Amino acid sequence: MSFYIRIWQACDIHEITKNLLIVGDVTADCAACRELGIAYAQAKSCPKCGVTFRFITSRLAGKLDLNRGATVKRIKERRPDLTFIDYEDYKEITGKQQAREFFK
Ligand SMILES: [Zn+2]
Repeated sequence: MSFYIRIWQACDIHEITKNLLIVGDVTADCAACRELGIAYAQAKSCPKCGVTFRFITSRLAGKLDLNRGATVKRIKERRPDLTFIDYEDYKEITGKQQAREFFK
């Protein structure tokens, strides 16, 4: 039996934002241009801004989401080509960055 474990890795948050699909209940959004309603199981690139997706995350895979194991498994099975990142990590980093840029 296999389990999922998160791996910590240094990353460029701008690079992630430029190539990230954020999965919601059914469809996904493009992190770069905020386009909504993207069919994440198929989309290789954003239909609006044209970025190529390399990363994927889900709003429903947080610490408090009881079904997050099933959510992660479903998304990873549909998109083994994308790197699954943690949504809470992503929000925390982009939130800190926005605060820094706001106070500059
Ligand atoms: Zn886009």
